Amino acid sequence: MREKIYSFELFPPKSEKGFLDLKKTVGKLSEKNIHFFSCTYGAGGSTQENTFATVDWLRMQQINTAPHLTCIGNSIEGTLNILERYKNQGVKRIVALRGDRPSGSGISNGDLNHANELVSLIKQEFGDYFHIEVAAYPEMHPQASNFSEDIKNFKRKIDAGANSAITQYFYSKDAYSRFVDQCSNSNIDIPIVPGVMPITNFSSLRRFSANCGAEIPRWICKRLEGFGDDLKSIREFGEEVVTDLCQHLLSDGAPGLHFYTMNRSEPTLALWNNLNLK
Ligand code: FAD
Repeated sequence: MREKIYSFELFPPKSEKGFLDLKKTVGKLSEKNIHFFSCTYGAGGSTQENTFATVDWLRMQQINTAPHLTCIGNSIEGTLNILERYKNQGVKRIVALRGDRPSGSGISNGDLNHANELVSLIKQEFGDYFHIEVAAYPEMHPQASNFSEDIKNFKRKIDAGANSAITQYFYSKDAYSRFVDQCSNSNIDIPIVPGVMPITNFSSLRRFSANCGAEIPRWICKRLEGFGDDLKSIREFGEEVVTDLCQHLLSDGAPGLHFYTMNRSEPTLALWNNLNLK
């Protein structure tokens, strides 16, 4: 049986205070036996330096780090410079993405239009040096014309050389298992690790989910709505629902879990402990 892959996702803080908080969060999370921390990258440009600063700090702590890298709005030369920088820091894993243009940003597409082109570029220039992660969407990418087109486009990334995938978060285990079955029917056999979003705040989760096309099932919405401003009940219910989801995913054979920590240790650690992970 393959070893399960566990990872924690961070976003780059924008302030000194945020950075201090992040260091504390990483201090607590890095006690756990995980494969890597990943750090997001803003396709818009304004937060990119913060990603580099976060990756620099993580690498200084000798932490296995997988920076996210988006291609939209970037030149090939700029992209290669970033990859070279990461290679020099001993980074071995990259989460290769297209990214989204922030609305009203006015930035142009850049040299590469889709993540499969970024994966090809990385393979072409760096061979097998980087382990390449790509994004997967069990509930379909919001811009895809239909599910089977989306799977075909997902396969382009694998054919280009992606080694494994991390999914958008979801709360329906059936969405994931059907997606994985469909991938296997399409001869996709890389690990597809479920992305796990802890539930701690309903209004921000609802806003975020509407933007990225992740569905919160009606029964979960109704229960969360019913708690109003009672954050304790939201957290307790959320923890129960997400623990249950993770238990099912792992026992059904998911190759690991990728936690969207939102730079906070407690919600992820609560799930981790409930799952009896080390
Ligand atoms: P792609 O794989 O290029 O797919 C995008 C859309 O185009 C899909 O609808 C697909 O079906 C279609 N498509 C793909 N290839 C082709 C092709 N060759 N021809 C025609 N159509 C095609 N965003 C950030 O800005 N920064 C981050 O750090 C970040 N991290 C993420 C991490 C994870 C695990 C996930 C799941 C998402 C992340 N995102 C991030 C969001 C992501 O950038 C968006 O979802 C974006 O809209 C799509 O990126 P992608 O890499 O999946 O793109």
